[in-house]
Amino acid sequence: MTNKKNLIVVGNGMVGHKFLELMVQKDVSQQWNLVTFCEEPRVAYDRVNLSGYFSGKTAADLTLVEPGYYQENNIQIHIGDRVVAIDRDNKKVRSANGVEIAYDKLVLATGSSLTKTVLLAILIYMRSANALFIIIASLV
Ligand SMILES: Cc1cc2nc3c(=O)[nH]c(=O)nc-3n(C[C@H](O)[C@H](O)[C@H](O)COP(=O)(O)OP(=O)(O)OC[C@H]3O[C@@H](n4cnc5c(N)ncnc54)[C@H](O)[C@@H]3O)c2cc1C
Repeated sequence: MTNKKNLIVVGNGMVGHKFLELMVQKDVSQQWNLVTFCEEPRVAYDRVNLSGYFSGKTAADLTLVEPGYYQENNIQIHIGDRVVAIDRDNKKVRSANGVEIAYDKLVLATGSSLTKTVLLAILIYMRSANALFIIIASLV
């Protein structure tokens, strides 16, 4: 039996990973089980430099996570698994793969997504004839 509490971080992007690094630095492992869900098929990477893919950078170049980091620090990571439900009454999350875990603290580090409205605003700002075509394409 363990008296440790569960801290679940939903999203393993730049913010979710940094948060976990800070938890490791603060040495919370005696009090907390750290768990994270990573919707993408790989651990956190430098999204800001994502365009480096076009100039030959690899996933290994962009990764923010040293190989074995999560295992060495007893962080349970669910790669390629999206949290699809949060049951706030019973303090549980459920993932697309059917994993259900109770939490004591829940951190949502899921980033943001581009809506069609935002896309439209950006493209109108660009004011090019091509943009108009892309706007229409994005709406259908
Ligand atoms: C090409 C590019 C260039 C950029 N340049 C800059 C820059 O110069 N300066 C700057 O400040 N910012 C820049 N940004 C933005 C920057 O990348 C974001 O601000 C940053 O990635 C936000 O980090 P985050 O962890 O909040 O979100 P994200 O990096 O989006 O990570 C969130 C993660 O959560 C996952 N997720 C979402 N929902 C769930 C769920 N239900 N279950 C499990 N996982 C989930 C997502 O798949 C994702 O992996 C750039 C972005 C791009 C794409």
